[in-house]
Amino acid sequence: MENWDLIIIGAGAAGLAAGIYAARSGLKTLIIEEKMAGGTTSDAPTVENYPGFSQIGGAELAEKMVLHCRKTGAAIHELETVTSLDLKGEKKTVKTTRSAYEAAAVIIASGAHYREIGVAGEKEFRGRGVSYCGVCDGPLFKGKRVLVVGGGNSAAITTLYLSGIVAEVTVAHRRDAFRAEEALVKDMASKKNVQVLLNTEVREIKGEKLVSKVVLFDNKARETRELAVDAVFVQVGEAPNSQLAKDSGVEVDEHGYIKIDIFQRTSIPGVYAAGDVTNHPVKQVGTAVGQGITAALEAYGYIRRPYYRK
Ligand SMILES: Cc1cc2nc3c(=O)[nH]c(=O)nc-3n(C[C@H](O)[C@H](O)[C@H](O)COP(=O)(O)OP(=O)(O)OC[C@H]3O[C@@H](n4cnc5c(N)ncnc54)[C@H](O)[C@@H]3O)c2cc1C
Repeated sequence: MENWDLIIIGAGAAGLAAGIYAARSGLKTLIIEEKMAGGTTSDAPTVENYPGFSQIGGAELAEKMVLHCRKTGAAIHELETVTSLDLKGEKKTVKTTRSAYEAAAVIIASGAHYREIGVAGEKEFRGRGVSYCGVCDGPLFKGKRVLVVGGGNSAAITTLYLSGIVAEVTVAHRRDAFRAEEALVKDMASKKNVQVLLNTEVREIKGEKLVSKVVLFDNKARETRELAVDAVFVQVGEAPNSQLAKDSGVEVDEHGYIKIDIFQRTSIPGVYAAGDVTNHPVKQVGTAVGQGITAALEAYGYIRRPYYRK
């Protein structure tokens, strides 16, 4: 079995930042990535809030991170999926679709996925008007009309955030009442540029090159109509890619996010987690990078300085 000091699962912002710090500290570091390296950052059409870059394409930023990480000497295995983990012992075993590896420490940086509504046009217009992140993409639609889909707290928070940026926000929820906190619902009702549509389902997202309208179905009146919008923000929840970690005994919260302390330690010694897969409240490139750095430096201490473990 191949032996490494540190194995990092996921080559997104968190995993790549961890890789840079670990390899520069002299740890023999392997990053395993099931797709191409770069992670979710590559999906962002434009990133305008990562310090040092006032505006950069997500794919370009991700590519810079990957190149930087490779340059430090970290090995990156792409198109290789981690399939099981044995984390309890002193040596951690990581099995993949290609091989099995052993390491003294593991960082889980496997990210999260946004839940989709599964309608025609959603995949086609992703990054061209369909977004899953208001903070990330809202400012791109300044002065425009947007639709938010969902009825929970994230839909309400996104609606309120967007109402300060765009001209008009319509929020569509398929049930007859919001699940969001009452204060948020009241706040939405007080905004002049927010229109609430209850009992309303999105049936299709349409456009030419970019989103230009949606087909809505009123499930009470049983009526279908079109609404002109420039963007659709889908806010029906997200889920962490934490099943493997959970199956191997890593503690997760009630939503499945890996529980971490301020040192990025999980419930298992020698196992760290960073980025969107954790229960950290902010999910951004900058926070993923910061968490990855902490995880790598803590893993370094754990591996090279055993007094750390006391
Ligand atoms: C459309 C969009 C726009 C965004 N815009 C911005 C923005 O403008 N600014 C900003 O700061 N943030 C933005 N974000 C959020 C930001 O992209 C994420 O918070 C950040 O990329 C999370 O990094 P991560 O490393 O934790 O996870 P990810 O980047 O998701 O990386 C996790 C990696 O783990 C891999 N993986 C998962 N399971 C396995 C497995 N079993 N085996 C091997 N590999 C595995 C995945 O393939 C993935 O590449 C945006 C997000 C989206 C979706």
